[in-house]
Amino acid sequence: MENVIDLPVRTLPVRTLLGPGPSEIDPRVLQALAQPAIGHMDPAFVGLMDEVKDLLRYAFQTSNRLSFPVSGPGSAGMETCFINLLESGDKIVVAQNGVFGQRMADMASRLGAQVITIDDEWGQPVDPGKLEDALTANPDTKVVAFVHAETSTGALSDARVLADIARRHGCLVVADTVTSLAGSPLYIDDWGLDAVYSGGQKCLSSVAGIAPITIGDRALKKINQRQTPVSTWFHDLGLIDGYWSESGQRSYHHTAPVNSIFALAESLRLVKQEGLEHAWARHCQISEQLVAGLERLGLEMMVDDASLRLSQLSVVKVPEGIDEAAVRTQLLDEEDIEIGAGLGPLAGKVWRIGLMGYSCRTENVDRLLSALEGVLGDLPKASVCSR
Ligand SMILES: *Cc1c(COP(=O)(O)O)cnc(C)c1O
Repeated sequence: MENVIDLPVRTLPVRTLLGPGPSEIDPRVLQALAQPAIGHMDPAFVGLMDEVKDLLRYAFQTSNRLSFPVSGPGSAGMETCFINLLESGDKIVVAQNGVFGQRMADMASRLGAQVITIDDEWGQPVDPGKLEDALTANPDTKVVAFVHAETSTGALSDARVLADIARRHGCLVVADTVTSLAGSPLYIDDWGLDAVYSGGQKCLSSVAGIAPITIGDRALKKINQRQTPVSTWFHDLGLIDGYWSESGQRSYHHTAPVNSIFALAESLRLVKQEGLEHAWARHCQISEQLVAGLERLGLEMMVDDASLRLSQLSVVKVPEGIDEAAVRTQLLDEEDIEIGAGLGPLAGKVWRIGLMGYSCRTENVDRLLSALEGVLGDLPKASVCSR
């Protein structure tokens, strides 16, 4: 056993990850990650690339040829969509109902687009009526962008309805599915979503730093008709496509993160094995256990209408008089459980509890509820049950 390597990583604690991402990595995905590396131009790697693209088409429910993982976090997937689709001066309507909608608007305006925002209160889904009004008032809009599952607030928007409105107004649709992919029903082709990105570390239970995207023909047409080159070399889909295409003539663009792609492939195989419908139902059922338990503890949910709540992320109001950061610190230090803090206007006011992918298991719900009960002590329960 003289070859045992004393990995410094071993000194890190093992956490139960119940925050807004990363989620726990499935043990099978961890094994895939630890495979010996292979050259990113190795013919043996090409077969895996094709498999990943096929599995992504399944996960996204699309037949888009251009479906592959961007080398980078979810935000790099976001950037890839905007930088390719938008040219300076293009008008875009961006729905803002949380942090990630704001990030979209920021990216679009940095690209010189004319950004019109529609705003909804945090905790509310995107209002289709506001989108309709914005597009009627701005008939020259070319792109509509929204977040399907807003991880900062726990609200799910109706992507099908929003895409339908956008298309009736002749717009392309960019959708953020970082948190929804494999956790909530999502049908790229049926719903008419043109450019869609996601991330590895949420409901796929894979590694962070890899961002599946899928680009449809209508979006490709706009990209091909650009008057100006895509403003960064790294995110130029025309160039990246040379590496990921099926042509059999793959050309070097950048060194693909091969081990992350091993991991992504395994996580996508697991999604396919479970079946999307089963994965969606599991997230829904187990989150109901969580919410019921939280309500028994006297806690209130941020999104009041249960039908608009995300399954994979529950946002809980911090009760009056409780130090929210102290609760998170105690959970982490004493129970090795991570939950998330509120972002932006919700900082200090909510906790964000994720049940994503492999993290979404009944045993995690039970562990969290009993730990929270211990940490919070006896909260008044009169407001939940009057008997
Ligand atoms: C996590 C998240 C992102 C950003 O992903 P990163 O991997 O952190 O860049 C974008 N949008 C949503 C909805 C997210 O939940």
